[in-house]
Order: sequence, then structure tokens, then C-alpha cells
Amino acid sequence: MATDTMLTINGTLGEGGGQILRSALALSLCLGRPFRISNIRATRSRPGLMPQHLVAVTAAAAVGDAEVRGATPGSRELEFVPRTIKPGEYRFDIGTAGSTTLVLQTILPALLTAAAPSHIRLQGGTHNPLAPSLDFFQHAFVPLINRMGPRIQTRQERPGFYPVGGGIVEVLIEPISSLQPLSLLERGEIVSRRAWAMVSRLPEHIARRELEVIEQQLGLPTSALELRQVEAKGPGNALTVLIESEHVTEVFAGIGERGVPAETVAQGVVAEVQRYLAAGVPVGEHLADQLLLPLALAGGGSFITLRPSRHTNTNMEVIKHFTGLQFACEELGEDRWRISC
Ligand code: ATP
Repeated sequence: MATDTMLTINGTLGEGGGQILRSALALSLCLGRPFRISNIRATRSRPGLMPQHLVAVTAAAAVGDAEVRGATPGSRELEFVPRTIKPGEYRFDIGTAGSTTLVLQTILPALLTAAAPSHIRLQGGTHNPLAPSLDFFQHAFVPLINRMGPRIQTRQERPGFYPVGGGIVEVLIEPISSLQPLSLLERGEIVSRRAWAMVSRLPEHIARRELEVIEQQLGLPTSALELRQVEAKGPGNALTVLIESEHVTEVFAGIGERGVPAETVAQGVVAEVQRYLAAGVPVGEHLADQLLLPLALAGGGSFITLRPSRHTNTNMEVIKHFTGLQFACEELGEDRWRISC
């Protein structure tokens, strides 16, 4: 490999997790820039490439016709040399309950401005802890990207939960020649608030108890609450709260876990929603870190959000390494920040 022109990224940078690798892969594809990453997830209890990260690498390699070295389970070093972006039909099976949306996060940016449409089918987890749920991806993230010019459509064929997985997601991408900048400085009036609780192969009372907490603590009327019995390959539960405002829709999710009471799952979601509503900002914590890369690719934009998370600060660092672009973070008040590119 032509290693002399390679950009080098240290995986222990900032937050030190898998997001550094995914952002680096996405940027490498979009800019045609080879890179080498060391110390991948070095400080995690199970360091190196986990199945979910390996599928992200494989998917990026397929989309970018890339030459790759070090893509093996547990590997802490990787070299990635993209050639050309190849839009088209793809199928990726994570083989575990690894997050399908995190794989999408990796390949989507390059396909947004590719020469032709793409159709991607992914199998894995759709509602995972510590990852964007498919509901978040579909209702919060995708509409904002579509506002930047491309047209993305997503469909959940079957949900997938840890540990069995087996969820199926279809994504259609109609690209645009270049992304338009995005400005999100106002939330506007709240137009609607809804919540739904999904259960697969688990007692219905789990979802009912979660919705009761949402009703009591967030004051949502019963007409805005929905209990969804779904058919996944294994047991699972996810609670989603959607806040639609004039200028943006935000989505908050809690994922049921063995040994964690339904009320605790719901309380976690309530706390996130209350923080977002109290701050009066358009962009929540997770959207903030995920919007940085599209903004950088569009060459500009700004949004108002909560105090930047470690993921947000880390993503800004990775983007700076690849593009030289610097984000400005300005504190406007209590839990109210403006981030501009
Ligand atoms: P690790 O290396 O720490 O095991 P990972 O590869 O699974 O982690 P992270 O580096 O932690 O992933 O990145 C997780 C991504 O998922 C971030 O972009 C974060 O914003 C997003 N995310 C986490 N929780 C949520 C949520 N509730 N809603 C939306 N997005 C989320």
C-alpha cells in the first residue's frame, strides 16, 4: 500500500470508541483519502474491532472499492485505501445483534453524493443500547439529511434486538451532486408529542408500564401512546418518544434490558426528554454528533444544541484531521450551545 500519503489517526483520541473508526471510514470514502488508525477501541473492556465494527469496515470497503489491511476480529490497527465510490445494490449481514444504523452511519455520507442511487439491505440489530435506534434514524436523522438535498427512504422489515438480532432494514438513497448547508437555530413551537413501546416475545405489561411512566411524567395523553406487539427473531423491548416541533423532530429511545425494570428504562428516556425540553434547543445530544460530518461535507452550517458531549468533541477532532475544518462552539447559556462549521 502507498503508506506515505496516509493520514494517521490515533484511536485513543477523545472518547476513544468505535465512532472514531466509523467517522474516519466515512470521511476517507467521501474525500478519497487513505488512512491508518491505531489503538482501535484500545481502552474498551473488549478492545479492537468487534463484529459490528468489522461489518462497518467491510461495508465501507465494498462501497469504496477499497484496499484494506488489518480487518480481522479484535484487530487494533487498520489501513484503508479507497478507490472509487460504487453506488448500487448492497446487502450486509452483521451476523449478530450489532447495530445496523451504525453501519449505515459509515457508508451513507459517501452514497449521498454518489453518481447513482443505492439500495441497501442490512440485517442485525435495529434497537440497540448506546446506538441510534432505527426510529431515531428514520424520524430524526434522515429528515434533516433530506433537507440537505438527497432523498433517503428507510423501511423496517423486522426489528432486531440484542442478543438474537435478525432485524432487517431497507434503505433507498437518491443522491445529489453536493450537499446543501443546514441551519437549525430554532426549535419553534411543539407540534406533537408521541410515544410507542415495542415488545417482542415478552409480556405486554413491560410496554404498558413504560407508557404509564411517560403518561405520568411527561403528561402525554393516552391518545398519543401506543403499545406495539412486534415479531422479532428474539425477545426485545424498546421505548420511543418523538417530539415534533415546527423546525425539527427529535427522538429519544430506551432499550429494555434483562434485569432492568421497565420503569427504569422509561425514567431514563423521561430524563433525556426533560433536559431537551428545558433547554429549548432544536438539536439533542445524539443528533449533534451525527450532524457534524454532513455539515462538514456541505462546507458549512450551524445548529443550536445542548452542552457538547464527548462524542461531539471527538467527532469534531476526527473531521479536523481529515478536512482541516474547524468547528466553532459557543456557549449561549445554561445547556445551550451554538456549533458552526
Ligand atoms: P464503543 O467503541 O464505545 O463500544 P460503539 O462503536 O458502539 O462504541 P460509539 O463510539 O459509542 O459506538 O458511538 C455511538 C454512536 O451512537 C454515537 O454517534 C452516538 O451519538 C449514537 N447514539 C448513542 N445512543 C444514542 C441514542 N439513544 N439515540 C441516538 N443515537 C445514539
